[in-house]
Amino acid sequence: MIVVMAPSATKKNLDNVIKKIESLNLRTHLSTGDERTIVGVIGDKKIIANLEMDMMAGVEKTVHITEKYKLVSREFNPADTIIDVDGVKIGGNEIVVMAGPCAVESAEQLREAAKAVSSCGAKILRGGAFKPRTSPYDFQGLGEEGLKLLRETADEFGMKVVTEIVEGGDIELVESYADILQVGARNMQNFQMLKALGKCKKPVMLKRGLSATINEWLNAAEYIMKGGNEKVIFCERGIRTYETYTRNTLDLAAVVAIKNLSHLPIVVDPSHGTGRRDMIAPMSRAAIAAGADALMIEVHPHPEVALSDGNQSLTPEDFKKLMSELNGIANVVGRTL
Ligand code: PEP
Ligand code: MN
Repeated sequence: MIVVMAPSATKKNLDNVIKKIESLNLRTHLSTGDERTIVGVIGDKKIIANLEMDMMAGVEKTVHITEKYKLVSREFNPADTIIDVDGVKIGGNEIVVMAGPCAVESAEQLREAAKAVSSCGAKILRGGAFKPRTSPYDFQGLGEEGLKLLRETADEFGMKVVTEIVEGGDIELVESYADILQVGARNMQNFQMLKALGKCKKPVMLKRGLSATINEWLNAAEYIMKGGNEKVIFCERGIRTYETYTRNTLDLAAVVAIKNLSHLPIVVDPSHGTGRRDMIAPMSRAAIAAGADALMIEVHPHPEVALSDGNQSLTPEDFKKLMSELNGIANVVGRTL
């Protein structure tokens, strides 16, 4: 349920509303807009169903929320949430670009990639240190050594770090090096890990599961927010369909759906979303036009020898060209890059 306070409501009215809700062992979540304050009510469904708030002074109306996710919903929080990643803001007017190799392979490879992408305007360095690979014989990542390289390299080029976490027990370790913790598609419904990430202080980028519906994805984000971490960023990375021409089907309609249903920002990853180098630029342009807040793009200094995802990795030259094209689209939709 949400309790919408009237524009004329006083601080005392609001305090009384909160007091009443909390006296019933329910939690409140405040969203303070320019005109109105909205009080979200979380807790036992049966108690909420019997909660009578409409007659209280300062209350304009109450609205029952039928969806199970609440903290992530736009009804709870009408204004867009901007997530501040140590100075880089995701969800505001500026479209943020995250770029780098699929996996951290060596100091030289990462440095070359970071140098190239940062010089074109990418603010966040991506790279996997723990790689969830389909085959156990494929490169599994450098582990902590990879995390160290990410931190050192990002610092050298004034960038932030996003990297994947594959198990709950690694949170402290990954958090000590990274600025954003990425939950990969394969772990979107690893509920134990989502609960653990609820206690983490750093932002979490939650990729959409391989076959997850938008509703399941929103509920996965609710797990993290319910645990206390409100800094959640969605990432659309394509879903599995019957189509085989592309690696996945990039669902750009999901960008619009997430923007309607949630206040949280959304990133589009056209690299995993298509799996094809030739489609990265057009799909990046389309993602911005559809309302994405950020892009995540795989770039490798030598894709032909990449240890993972070479087919979908841009060369530094391709990336430079792409970045020069994106500004125009961003401007058309009233944003900057
Ligand atoms: C990745 O970004 O490196 C990755 C493994 O992506 P996904 O979880 O979307 O497959
Ligand atoms: Mn990859």
